[in-house]
Amino acid sequence: ELHKQKQNEMTTEQTFIAVKPDGVQRGLIGPIISRFENRGFKLVAIKLMTASKEHLEKHYEDLSSKPFFPGLVTYMASGPVCAMVWEGRDVVKTGRAILGATNPLQSAPGTIRGDFAIILIWHEQDVGRNVCHGSDAVDSAKKEIALWFKEEELQKWKPAQFDWVYEKA
Ligand code: GDP
Ligand code: MG
Repeated sequence: ELHKQKQNEMTTEQTFIAVKPDGVQRGLIGPIISRFENRGFKLVAIKLMTASKEHLEKHYEDLSSKPFFPGLVTYMASGPVCAMVWEGRDVVKTGRAILGATNPLQSAPGTIRGDFAIILIWHEQDVGRNVCHGSDAVDSAKKEIALWFKEEELQKWKPAQFDWVYEKA
């Protein structure tokens, strides 16, 4: 029973991933979804939404003292974002690895930011244009999911590939 509970905890971890306005404009929703699907993660919620500044101030409240905060909120509110919840074992940490480093200059090739974020070296602001957001910890993921989605928007379903992704033994 304990083993079963543990296995359930491992497979039901969820993270909040959002394609930012620059990613939506550049047609990167599909490629970003593919990277999570390819890794065997399960999509449990998705919507296109233009978030209000108040909403984004809450989303990024930990960064409110940073000099780039007002610009970050304005940029994130500038158009639709594709908000998603992905589920799977270790999805928070793995999601961050799939995203790559915050600064496009440092994000490795093979990561979403390393492959898609455009580096315009004459413009410091472009640190922020990094295509995609991902929760940085299980706790912040829970907070972010609650901010962006209602409980009933999260789908409970078992992908046909589940038993091939997770070994039973
Ligand atoms: P993340 O978790 O990798 O997204 O990075 P943070 O939580 O530290 O920052 C949130 C977002 O703020 C980043 O994804 C960037 O869009 C933006 N950002 C972070 N650092 C900077 C910066 O030094 N300058 C600017 N202009 N934006 C930044
Ligand atoms: Mg962050």
